[in-house]
Formats: sequence, structure tokens, C-alpha cells
Amino acid sequence: MSDEAEATNPGASGRVHPIVQYGDPVLHRACAPVAAFDAALARLVEDMFASMYAANGVGLAANQIGVDARVFVLDCEDADGVRTVAAVVNPVLSLPAPPRELMTGDEGCLSVPGSYEDTARSATAVVEGFDAAGEPVRIEGTGTLARCLQHEYDHLEGTVYVDRLPRKARNRALAEAGLR
Ligand SMILES: [Zn+2]
Repeated sequence: MSDEAEATNPGASGRVHPIVQYGDPVLHRACAPVAAFDAALARLVEDMFASMYAANGVGLAANQIGVDARVFVLDCEDADGVRTVAAVVNPVLSLPAPPRELMTGDEGCLSVPGSYEDTARSATAVVEGFDAAGEPVRIEGTGTLARCLQHEYDHLEGTVYVDRLPRKARNRALAEAGLR
């Protein structure tokens, strides 16, 4: 890969951070809105991409590397196999009005490593926010992308996907991850 291509690859200049695990307080409270679209934010986004790719994830929220900020990154495909790579700052999630179509499928989380549980999600989701430069971003998702948008938005609200599961499934997921 040329230097130029590397420089434009998300995360190429980022530093890999350890992933915070379920139980750390930073994952269990709502994150603070981002106030400044500055160099520190650009660096955070780069570090988040680098950390997500190093962990083989398809999405990562800032609090998963211990940063209290409403930012997530993702790299995943929708139901048609179309890939989206994006960082979203101060996202707002919109779901269809009930009764909405749900999809149930395997969901996992880098903060609950190694376990996957069937989780019901809206089949479609829309997130609006800003990129690291402060430009408006709007992502409409289906399939894995819709699941990822809801999962990462949840993180910024202090909710981990296992919190949405029945207690038995939650305990199983945490036990498989060695967290209980
Ligand atoms: Zn997660």
C-alpha cells in the first residue's frame, strides 16, 4: 500500500487502545455530547478506528476505549451487502414508529468478548449526526448496519446489548466472556 493510501485509511494514524469490558462504570452511564470539532476529536476518531480494526470489530463507541464522548465508528454492511465506513459524532437515532418490523439475530460486543446472543432489533434504523470535521452525516441502515447503529447508539446511552436480554441469556453471555 502506498503512503498516500495509508494516510487516507481510517485508523491508519490511530493508536490502538485496550477495550473496556462490561462492568466498568464508563460503559454504564450516558456519554457527554462533543462540544468542539477539533484536533483532539480527529485523533479520538482515528484511535477508535484503529482500536476497532485491531479487535476485529464492526463498530466501536468512544466509551469502549474509556472516553466519555458521544462518538461511534463503524465498518459494516447492510442487508444488500453495501459497506458503510463512518464516524458519527453526537448521533441521534430514529426508528420507525411501532409496530415496526423486528429482526432477531446474533449480536456480540467487544466489551463482552467471545459471546453472542440472539437479540431483537428494529430491521431498519436511521442515525443523523456529524463527522469529525463537523459536516452533517446521515446513515440509513438495514441488516447488520441497522443492528450496528442501534448497538453503538445504545453504548452512548450507557446500555450494553446484554442489558436488553432476558436475565438468563445475559448471565450466560457474561459467563462466556469470563465477566461473571
Ligand atoms: Zn458493543
